[in-house]
Amino acid sequence: MKKETRLNHPDLVLPAAQNPPLIEPIYQSVKFTTPDVSDMEAIAAASAAGRDEGYFYTRISNPTVRQLELTLAELQGREDAIAFASGIAAVSTLFLAHLRAGDHVVVFKESYRPTRYLARDLMARFGVTCSLHAIEKLDVLEAELATRKTKLLIFESPTNPMLKIADIARICAAARSHGTLVVLDNTFAGPHQHADFEVDLYIHSLTKFVSGHGDVMGGAIIGSKALIAAMKRDSYELGACLDPHAAYLIQRGLKTYFLRYRKQCENALAVARFLESDSRVARVYYPGLASHPHHARAKAQMQDFGTMVAIDIRGDVSAFIRKLKLFKLAASLGSTDSLVVPVLSFFGRDLTEEERKEAWITPNSVRLSLGVEDSSDLIEDLKQALG
Ligand SMILES: *Cc1c(COP(=O)(O)O)cnc(C)c1O
Repeated sequence: MKKETRLNHPDLVLPAAQNPPLIEPIYQSVKFTTPDVSDMEAIAAASAAGRDEGYFYTRISNPTVRQLELTLAELQGREDAIAFASGIAAVSTLFLAHLRAGDHVVVFKESYRPTRYLARDLMARFGVTCSLHAIEKLDVLEAELATRKTKLLIFESPTNPMLKIADIARICAAARSHGTLVVLDNTFAGPHQHADFEVDLYIHSLTKFVSGHGDVMGGAIIGSKALIAAMKRDSYELGACLDPHAAYLIQRGLKTYFLRYRKQCENALAVARFLESDSRVARVYYPGLASHPHHARAKAQMQDFGTMVAIDIRGDVSAFIRKLKLFKLAASLGSTDSLVVPVLSFFGRDLTEEERKEAWITPNSVRLSLGVEDSSDLIEDLKQALG
């Protein structure tokens, strides 16, 4: 063979089964080969039916991505998962895979804004109707589910940005008794929580705590083998697949998931307690504080109260954020560094005055995402910025 040819056909170095690498390798290959056409046909047919019997094209499946999917499914206490290029790609694929013209879907005023947009605006183009509920008015939700055939309901807990705690058991019971697929966007709680509820599918943005370092995006849908298998074909034909390198980074991030998450929760509680004691802060919303309106529910259904804190300050939000040194003004959450955003301009613009009130959003609301820094430094930073 000439060198030109040889460079494109090196002998593959594959460790023996009894001599594996300690760390999951990155299969940065779009294609996988088989000896015979029939083998490839069998793999393709299995993939289309949602079965995991081999690899031929990375948009459909890839070992590094598969490793992550299985890790996530186990962490969330379910059988299987599909990974996506972003959290919202998981939501859009969920809607497109499950909803048809004439179907009805339920979202909440407290839902992540892009989820509301997809459900109310984008899916309306395809003849899907949507109603917007309030996470604290479950009587209204139950009445609607009983009288209006609803295909799918998606909710969050704790909610973004003001950290309301949904009554997960009651929502699941209402949806299930009327044959509505119940989906929990569990991003704010994290995939180690809420496994014990009768949720059909979990959504996660892996961009947040799961990867944890603010350097990679991803999403996932997690559920039973049957529900995931039924979505596989639509998922890979829609094409919002996770890249193997991103999957590797997320898998790497997961190794320290509990260390980071617990430290971030400790910081959130310390900061929330400080803020509650400071008269320059009008209100503190942290599910772990006894003063939180849903604290009892949080205590009953969560193992950890989360890494986010929302506050209403007495002064000007922009001035406060400008003075902060450690908390950086940036979108997103769950990374090792602490972040801050103004709530109204980030999350409240498409809500009416009444809807904002119901969502606990005021012009003075600020959302904090706690990192892994030393809590006394974070408290000092908040102290000087409030001054
Ligand atoms: C961030 C987020 C998403 C979307 O995830 P991306 O990775 O940014 O696409 C969905 N739901 C919730 C609750 C989120 O916080």
